[in-house]
Amino acid sequence: MTERTLFQKIIDGEVPGDFVHKDDICVAIKDINPKAPIHYLIVPRKPIPGVHEMDEMKDWPIVTHLFKVAKGLAESDGCEGYRLQFNVGEKGGQIIPHLHLHLMGWK
Ligand code: 5GP
Repeated sequence: MTERTLFQKIIDGEVPGDFVHKDDICVAIKDINPKAPIHYLIVPRKPIPGVHEMDEMKDWPIVTHLFKVAKGLAESDGCEGYRLQFNVGEKGGQIIPHLHLHLMGWK
């Protein structure tokens, strides 16, 4: 059995997380070490390791949903500008092998 990721443990309530959104497809949590005044991680419930491992047929709708949730959160939090970022692979700065979209926002 593959080891469960930190984000799976947060989704399942085994590790605390500061949730700002939950739905059937994803959750959004505050980043523990924010790099902007607003910094959320939008994480699919499906534990896809990263962009490289996405299923070409099945997983694109999930990514579309992550972007929609990010846009909604940026708007509801009153961000005037924001950055959406996927880190891919260790060399790309990805630490946690569970797909997640960074939302970094400024008011
Ligand atoms: P990555 O570098 O994999 O794209 O992003 C992982 C992010 O997860 C980092 O920005 C890091 O600050 C955040 N992070 C690491 N551990 C925890 C944690 O236990 N809780 C939360 N909420 N965020 C975490």
